[in-house]
Amino acid sequence: MNSLNRRKFIQVCGSGLALATLPFSLHAASGARVVVIGGGFAGATAAKYLRLFGPDLQVTLVDPATAHVSCVGSNLVLTGETPIGELTKPFAALSDKYGVELVSEPAVSIDAANKRVSLASGATLDYEHVILAPGIDFEPVSGHDFNVMPHAWIAGAQTTLLQEQLMAMADGGTFVIAIPKTPFRAHTAPYERATVVADYFQRNKPGAKILILDANAAIAGMNRTFTEAFTGVYRDIVEYVPNVTVNAADALNRRLDITREGTASSVTAEVINLIPAQKAGKLLFDSGLVPDGSKFAPVNPLNYASTLAPEANVHILGDSQSTGQAKSGHMANSQAKVCVDAILRDLAGLAPDPAPKTTAAAFPPITRRTASWTTTTYSFDAASMSMVASSSAEAPKPTKDIRKEEGPGWLINLLSDSFA
Ligand SMILES: Cc1cc2nc3c(=O)[nH]c(=O)nc-3n(C[C@H](O)[C@H](O)[C@H](O)COP(=O)(O)OP(=O)(O)OC[C@H]3O[C@@H](n4cnc5c(N)ncnc54)[C@H](O)[C@@H]3O)c2cc1C
Repeated sequence: MNSLNRRKFIQVCGSGLALATLPFSLHAASGARVVVIGGGFAGATAAKYLRLFGPDLQVTLVDPATAHVSCVGSNLVLTGETPIGELTKPFAALSDKYGVELVSEPAVSIDAANKRVSLASGATLDYEHVILAPGIDFEPVSGHDFNVMPHAWIAGAQTTLLQEQLMAMADGGTFVIAIPKTPFRAHTAPYERATVVADYFQRNKPGAKILILDANAAIAGMNRTFTEAFTGVYRDIVEYVPNVTVNAADALNRRLDITREGTASSVTAEVINLIPAQKAGKLLFDSGLVPDGSKFAPVNPLNYASTLAPEANVHILGDSQSTGQAKSGHMANSQAKVCVDAILRDLAGLAPDPAPKTTAAAFPPITRRTASWTTTTYSFDAASMSMVASSSAEAPKPTKDIRKEEGPGWLINLLSDSFA
């Protein structure tokens, strides 16, 4: 993608273009209630666009939090460059500006047959359509204490804990990042974490090192960009080790027991960022929407309806679903618009768009002054009934413009399109 096209892409990424020309009257949707569970990039975007394009709909957003803390951009919180408040987006904007009704408690299950959501308080909400977007849950690692070895993979208190640990680390100390097997949330983000922290160490912690223990056989996102960074500008700081399985954690001794190519050993470090393997949000398992033996929820990518309850108007978005598209905030925002479009069409008695497209993007900082970018577009493939990556690109090299203007501009657009 050349620079002009990339700028255009950044400008439209959050504009809801797919919905701008809906070819039917929305009044057929009059009064119908849509309940959205989870106010992250997927759920917040869906709630906002349902009200924008279906002003007669009743839209209820259920989330125990009153604000969403964005993981996107959160690696820069670790080094103090971005205050976490800049990434904290209150849901009040969705109610004040768009009339979304807010319910501040967790949903505990879905009764698909009766179109009813049960909340933790015992209250219930009936719906015509429900959107489930509860993000991720973690597969446990034996001995893993999140208060000692933060995952910092759901932003908020975990992010600031890891930040405090990194800031308090002595010069010459070692920071371990343990990366799980794919698929996990944001394939570029653990490596971005390494470049951002390596840059911080270079300027603030003489002699400090980063050891990346990757369960995968190779760098899982933006391989060329991060290989160049780890073997180039950060060759004296970062050691990258593939094919490492973490078997157990010892919080007291800050130790990981690992296996690499059949050989068991252990690693100790001052700061350990253990990112566990991931699966769909618990709500989806509790509601019977993930098949036995699977980790994510199957959906029809034309409308994100659960394939386990195809006629029940249960839609699943974002990191919890299993279409194989990138698990990313940009993608969650994109899926939300396809799903909203499909719900509005359904309420008007129409079939979903037969050829949806979605996009994912990231603009990882590589140094204090440079950043890179990647984008992937997915198109619906009717033969396989799946979304396939139809084009993909990565910056030829990190540049100052991307770090100073294009990356921050993209993030501001994405946050404001999803939450404001
Ligand atoms: C360090 C890091 C960097 C990243 N960088 C990028 C990037 O550069 N670009 C990019 O596009 N993506 C990036 N991502 C990925 C992105 O953050 C996720 O893919 C995105 O947040 C997924 O959105 P979601 O709506 O599916 O889930 P989430 O954003 O996690 O939202 C889930 C919401 O559901 C709520 N919830 C959970 N259970 C319940 C329940 N039972 N009842 C009610 N509510 C519930 C939660 O409170 C939460 O608000 C990054 C992630 C990390 C960790």
